[in-house]
Amino acid sequence: MKKYVDVIVPLPIASQYTYSLPPALEEGVQEGCRVVVPFGSKKFYTAIVTRVHYAAPEGYETKDIEEVLDSSPVLLPKQLEFWEWLSTYYLCTLGDVYKAAMPSGMKLESETVVVYNDEFEAIHPLSDSEQRLLDLLSADKEQCVTQLQRTVGVKNILPVVKRLLDKEAIFVKEDLKRNYKPRTEARVRLARKDLDEAGMMALFNELSRAKKQLALLMKYVELSGWTGRDEHLKEVTKKELLEKAGATSTIFNGLVDKGIFEVYHQEIGRLLRSGIATSACHTLNPAQQTAFSSIIDSFRQKNVCLLHGVTSSGKTEVYIHLITEALKQGGGQVLYLLPEIALTTQITERLKRVFGHRLGVYHSKFPDAERVEIWQKQLSDEPYEVILGVRSSIFLPFKNLKLVIVDEEHENTYKQQDPAPRYHARSSAIMLASMYGAKVLLGTATPSVETYYNATNGKYGLVELKERYQDIRLPHIEQVDIKELTRQKRMKGPFSPMLVKEVREALDRKEQVILFQNRRGFAPMIECHTCGWVPKCKNCDVSLTYHKGLNQLTCHYCGCAYQVPRSCPACGGVELQHKGFGTERIEDDIKLIFPEAKVARMDLDTTRTRSAYEKIIADFEQGKTDILIGTQMVSKGLDFQHVSVVGILNADTMLNYPDFRSYERAYQLMAQVAGRAGRKNKQGLVILQTKSPDLPVIHQVMRNDYEQLYFDQLAERQLFRYPPFYRLIYVYLKHRKPEVLDQAADAMAQHLRTGLGDRVLGPDKPPIARIQTLFIKKMVVKVEQSASMAKVRDYLLAVQRVIVEDERFRSLIVYYDVDPQ
Ligand code: ADP
Ligand code: ZN
Ligand code: ZN
Repeated sequence: MKKYVDVIVPLPIASQYTYSLPPALEEGVQEGCRVVVPFGSKKFYTAIVTRVHYAAPEGYETKDIEEVLDSSPVLLPKQLEFWEWLSTYYLCTLGDVYKAAMPSGMKLESETVVVYNDEFEAIHPLSDSEQRLLDLLSADKEQCVTQLQRTVGVKNILPVVKRLLDKEAIFVKEDLKRNYKPRTEARVRLARKDLDEAGMMALFNELSRAKKQLALLMKYVELSGWTGRDEHLKEVTKKELLEKAGATSTIFNGLVDKGIFEVYHQEIGRLLRSGIATSACHTLNPAQQTAFSSIIDSFRQKNVCLLHGVTSSGKTEVYIHLITEALKQGGGQVLYLLPEIALTTQITERLKRVFGHRLGVYHSKFPDAERVEIWQKQLSDEPYEVILGVRSSIFLPFKNLKLVIVDEEHENTYKQQDPAPRYHARSSAIMLASMYGAKVLLGTATPSVETYYNATNGKYGLVELKERYQDIRLPHIEQVDIKELTRQKRMKGPFSPMLVKEVREALDRKEQVILFQNRRGFAPMIECHTCGWVPKCKNCDVSLTYHKGLNQLTCHYCGCAYQVPRSCPACGGVELQHKGFGTERIEDDIKLIFPEAKVARMDLDTTRTRSAYEKIIADFEQGKTDILIGTQMVSKGLDFQHVSVVGILNADTMLNYPDFRSYERAYQLMAQVAGRAGRKNKQGLVILQTKSPDLPVIHQVMRNDYEQLYFDQLAERQLFRYPPFYRLIYVYLKHRKPEVLDQAADAMAQHLRTGLGDRVLGPDKPPIARIQTLFIKKMVVKVEQSASMAKVRDYLLAVQRVIVEDERFRSLIVYYDVDPQ
């Protein structure tokens, strides 16, 4: 009987596909293995097998799979179950989930661009086809698989590409150039083991004419500590030897050819840094100990617990003890989630000190090859017991997950915005944990309203930690009315007199300052003084941000850059004014006021690479910087010792954001930034500048009164039908033509209302109604907690099918944002 497999392909298409197995491949295909499948007329993809069966599909002729890539599954049954839950809950396809879940190196396709690895040295001889491909790539170092295929003239070369990737002879091309650490290292030794001092002298003589070779040999003797007697030599890497001797590979190879040197390869295991000295965890203080025991107690009854602890109360120390506890019996695993930006060397080092090589770190800014290696290691017999990682680490294979920690659980960056799957890592982690029977600890100083609601209503456990470690006091917050000061013409640009005075005094005392402004670039907008013209993006419905350093206007939605006009295209006026203050402008202005201070800026523009980001933090930690200016990046869980003043330059930009969560978010941001101030024995000072000093939320920040903020917000959410009382699904429609979009949106809304009634709001134009040349319309579906989400989802998808089958709406894009942030 013919065998078939159902597979997921890495494409946003709805269903799984069935392929047939040619007889030669019938054995050895298992669920969870990758296979290469032809798709369309010329393309090949790496697909994942979800089922092996004998049922021929009806209605279409199956194609054969080309090749089986794995001898054992790379996707565990629990992971597949998790993928299925994600795709159902977040209304996306399994292909979307597959794309997000696996590192690029594991899901090759015809479009994948591969890059030649200059540092590659073959340890074992390559096969003919591998060598051929590598030669082609070394001539033209960056090519896509299709192009290589055409040159080689073989139908499907994905398996060869995969083998070269496994050997790290090539890489998958990534957007950013990252620091690649090789997995093996070429080292040098003397070919003759029995060489004695006299023999070495003879060699020196022999080489007396080849000066460069002689120098290289002498350098080797020096570096290895060779004396001719039988003792331990230091290992010498080829790279180091060549560098220190200032020699080339050609000189080196000369010595190899003469039978003097010998090269050998040593596994250095960039992941398995064995032999890290670990130390015991810190002893918890009484408050932390109480919190720890209460969490353990709570886990006896509930699966999820919230640890609500003020900044610097030692939450991380409590997590470390919980992890130790969870691993005590052996064989278990812990996942520790952090928002991308909060995953710094600081936290990695803290955990490494305790868990050593049992800890694996998974970061989206790590090279793809390293992420593939971590995935493979988690499938091996010796997986990491602790994974510290960002959002996407929920996709790693876990064998026996015991505990998940979601640190900074309120962070909205846990939600993936684009592309699908638009999942929330906190909610998804809770689901993942329940599949394994694992416990979840959510930790934060400023809980999200939803989480706090669940914790105070008994769904989750609640444990509080109200004092800072070593009783460092929470900062004092002063508010400044910048509306009034502007009227009195007493503002110095974005700085109030009080802020300038306090910064000056802090600098005099050799203390550090953080200035927070939630806008990057120089000026959020430029405007013609004469006619009020404002430059906008041609693809999106937003005004452009002026970047002085780049001297260009940039769209923060699509990334498009424009030249700065010399005059107004509307009226010809030449007076184009900067409106508002971005971090770049604040940096310029502060340097004018404090020319002697060392100033750094931390925002998306200055931290494109991971190393740039870490350098800014390290410089600040080591006191090389006096004033750090930044966007919300500066608020994220960084632990600085010498910051005495924090300035919040303009609270209103956060408060005026049109979203039901804007007050909650503004509170969280301000409380988190404020938490950076304060040192041992000295209370920190926060200067909060605002045009709306009477708003309750400002007072709540000043009094550190989270409860009041929560009650206010909860009342509003109930009144206006928002989470946690209602679940939200945003339905987005996109089309190039606004007329078609309007028709489609109206038709869809009408259909939706037939089944869902007044749960459907809109269609409306969102605040930004065009992005990347596509017009956008949005509908909001609000579902009461008691209604069946499954039914709502089915209904949405049924209506979508009707709409996209309509000839008029053929190129309409429909997608959903479930539990939008
Ligand atoms: P949080 O995660 O709540 O912001 P941290 O765990 O980062 O707090 O603690 C703040 C600082 O206090 C850190 O430098 C940490 O090392 C130190 N600290 C907290 N608790 C202890 C403890 N029990 N023993 C030693 N140091 C501690
Ligand atoms: Zn004008
Ligand atoms: Zn744009």
